[in-house]
Amino acid sequence: MKDIRGFLIDLDGVLYVGGKAIKGAQESIDLLKDRKYAFRFVSNTTRTCRNTIAGQLSSLGFDIPVEYIFTPPLAAVAWLKNAGKHRCYLLTTGDVYRDFEHEGFCNPGTIIDFVIIGDAGDRLTYDNLNTAFRHVMNGAEMIALEKDRYWMAPGGLSLSAGPFVQALEFATGKTATIVGKPSKTFFDLALQDMGLRADQAAMIGDDILTDIGGALSIGMQGILVRTGKYRKDAVVNTGVKPSRVIDSIAQLRDIL
Ligand SMILES: [Mg+2]
Repeated sequence: MKDIRGFLIDLDGVLYVGGKAIKGAQESIDLLKDRKYAFRFVSNTTRTCRNTIAGQLSSLGFDIPVEYIFTPPLAAVAWLKNAGKHRCYLLTTGDVYRDFEHEGFCNPGTIIDFVIIGDAGDRLTYDNLNTAFRHVMNGAEMIALEKDRYWMAPGGLSLSAGPFVQALEFATGKTATIVGKPSKTFFDLALQDMGLRADQAAMIGDDILTDIGGALSIGMQGILVRTGKYRKDAVVNTGVKPSRVIDSIAQLRDIL
């Protein structure tokens, strides 16, 4: 791929699926290293903090430095720092709160500046969604860590944060700011870290909308893999045209 000097690589569905590494994925990362390409990992995973993700990747046999991993909670923290406010209601699950606590952002009480909503799994109860709804009605802004429709869990396709974000938007009449993929600010964080412009980089992902559509909209190239949540009919329906389509990240060597 002429003029491409770096890659942003999605994690779930690209490096691994349902807790299993994709064959040849680490070899493709090694190849990028050998050929002096820059690369970073941009995941819309919002169930775990950056350090935990690095540990999980390591247990799957990947050799990836923690500082190469970019997730929506990190983008949200950067966004909050910019806004200068820090009273958050976190509608998230797992240990993702650590990314916020680490920076001094937490749940301080009843007055809330931001409702932050991610893929909160079983925490997306009526009570918790209703609390978030009331905070927004009282003036809090909504930040969506991602607004994906679904993801591929070990047991099958599963609801992501998107349907719940949309429910809150419907109820409040307000629009959430999306800080994960496909927002430009998120891609920019990782591009800046590589020191590259959008037109010098390609995104490798399994989500036609958030990975490929997002990348194309800011002037990056988009390489779709036929692993993870890839479904041929879903791709056709979106009308988004990837720059390249490959069977899996193992085929990256054929298009470099
Ligand atoms: Mg993915």
